[in-house]
Amino acid sequence: MRLVVATANPGKLREYRALLDGLGLVLVALPASVSPPPETGDTFLANARIKAHHAARHTGLFALGDDSGLEVTALGGWPGVSSARFAGEGATDAQRMAQVLDRLRPHRDRSAAMRTALVLAGPDGSESWAEGVLRGTVAFAPRGSRGFGYDPLFVPEGFTGTLAELGPEVKDRISHRARAAAALRPAIERLRRP
Ligand code: IMP
Repeated sequence: MRLVVATANPGKLREYRALLDGLGLVLVALPASVSPPPETGDTFLANARIKAHHAARHTGLFALGDDSGLEVTALGGWPGVSSARFAGEGATDAQRMAQVLDRLRPHRDRSAAMRTALVLAGPDGSESWAEGVLRGTVAFAPRGSRGFGYDPLFVPEGFTGTLAELGPEVKDRISHRARAAAALRPAIERLRRP
């Protein structure tokens, strides 16, 4: 059975393939012919719902919508739901990380969280959802080249390396996304049964 991952981000697709391995599902990206919907929600969950239902409606398949981001405590949870967009449409990960570091410079508290909202939507409009959170701190400069997005800046609790230094062996075991996928796994497993 095919399951669409409503994303154009190859990093997310790779992670879901690893996290949902062994379920007998073939995870496919949103076809290039389907343009992604505007993310107009003001929460991660609202945006994950928009992505999942849009992908299910346009493909006729069950779909996973993932909306994720970085929440910095000293900055009141910013960038949060605007993690992808606050620096402008064409900004790079490096530019986004530089802005986070700039805004955090006057603060002593570097605690932060990575959060994922994950929605499984059916072409009939059905849905299940889950959230996953990974707590940690913001590093003083990006470190590491594995992973994507804010991975070079985020040091998970209990580790000294960033997610981009720790790599998928560790990230896929402890991440916000791994936790959301584990919580939603029973609903995903039910897809295989009539
Ligand atoms: P979105 O969930 O694709 O909208 O991503 C929002 C922002 O968070 C983008 O800048 C992503 O690169 C970043 N992001 C999403 N997931 C992760 C992750 O697992 N690690 C680091 N950054 C992420």
